[in-house]
Amino acid sequence: MTMHGLIEAGGTKFILGVAEADGRIVARHRLPTTTPDATLGAAVDWFRGQGPIDRMGIASFGPLGLDRAAPDWGHILATPKPDWSMADLAGPFMRAFDCPVAIDTDVNGAALAESLWGAGQGVRSCVYLTIGTGIGGGAVVDGRIIGGAGHPEMGHMRLPRHPDDHAFAGHCPFHGACLEGLASGPAILARWGASLSDLPPDGPEQAMIAWYLAQAVTNLQAVLAPGRIILGGGVMATPGLLARIRTLADDLGQGYFATRAADIVVPPGLGADAGLMGAFALSLTS
Ligand code: ZN
Repeated sequence: MTMHGLIEAGGTKFILGVAEADGRIVARHRLPTTTPDATLGAAVDWFRGQGPIDRMGIASFGPLGLDRAAPDWGHILATPKPDWSMADLAGPFMRAFDCPVAIDTDVNGAALAESLWGAGQGVRSCVYLTIGTGIGGGAVVDGRIIGGAGHPEMGHMRLPRHPDDHAFAGHCPFHGACLEGLASGPAILARWGASLSDLPPDGPEQAMIAWYLAQAVTNLQAVLAPGRIILGGGVMATPGLLARIRTLADDLGQGYFATRAADIVVPPGLGADAGLMGAFALSLTS
């Protein structure tokens, strides 16, 4: 039996799992994200206690080096997160278990898992976009993750400003008013002092965030013509938001695209284990 070691590497916690070849998760563990040495060392120790590991999948926060031929492959690149810039994420597991290791962004892992087992089934291509503490996205076409020179940074696309939003500088440390800087959870909190689900569902706040996310949907339709656009993350748990985005995106698209947002914009299909399933999907590519 081939055993898969799975890691969902996040900025505040690492979720570890062991899965059998059919994806059934037979063990799981959670670690706080502290320093690379402490966190990765504890992860290696936990996997060692689980028996033989034959291949691994790591779905991580980014940015990540993803060029297999480059010395920074499998490393976290420049990040504002203290201690983690240039941390070697894949290396400790390759050395400890001498097995194939696949690593990609958490959103690329999620996009692949959704395409295989979730809301992206039955279409040739899908985009997964998460709107939460940050905004990130991945795209899968015919079973392959799109990228090559690194990974997509969909959260950092530029958008027109909402006419009522010119007083807010934006919350992205790199770009100010990119999509993430305008519509992520921290941007919402910085602008209004409350999360979107705590603001009135028929208020101008939800309308503005829906308008920004509808722009993102329209841009993704224009660039990739995906068969499905899956919107996940904490902000998307706001009641009514998904329906608003669909309607506004179709207004913006003016019926020009091959698909209607109302038909292709959907919530994720995978539930609580989505992160580990992303790591499992990646491990299949290792
Ligand atoms: Zn940005």
